[in-house]
Amino acid sequence: MIEKQINVSNHSYLVEYPDECPICHHHSEVHLIRAEEINNRTEVNVVFQCGYAGCKRHFIGYYGPITQKELKSLEPKRPNTAAFPESIITLSPKFVEIYPHLCNLLKLRRE
Ligand SMILES: [Zn+2]
Repeated sequence: MIEKQINVSNHSYLVEYPDECPICHHHSEVHLIRAEEINNRTEVNVVFQCGYAGCKRHFIGYYGPITQKELKSLEPKRPNTAAFPESIITLSPKFVEIYPHLCNLLKLRRE
């Protein structure tokens, strides 16, 4: 995770900045489109756009109030299918789809 300066409501501060697109998983440049305080200034939402020419999708980073650098989540997410052998993707695309949810579930159980 890299850190970058963002500007929200005239505050400039460092936040954890996505270094890959959560949808296509290319490590290309991620553009900041818009950052805004919402929910009575308890949250900052940042709209990003993937810089990869074959994707260009938008996604949202969820942060706490201004000056909190932690990137709480990034939505939407798509599983990185490149991590699976072609045979599994062909045999069971459903498995590839549910795998990240399964991981989240197991992680939650352990905590
Ligand atoms: Zn992308």
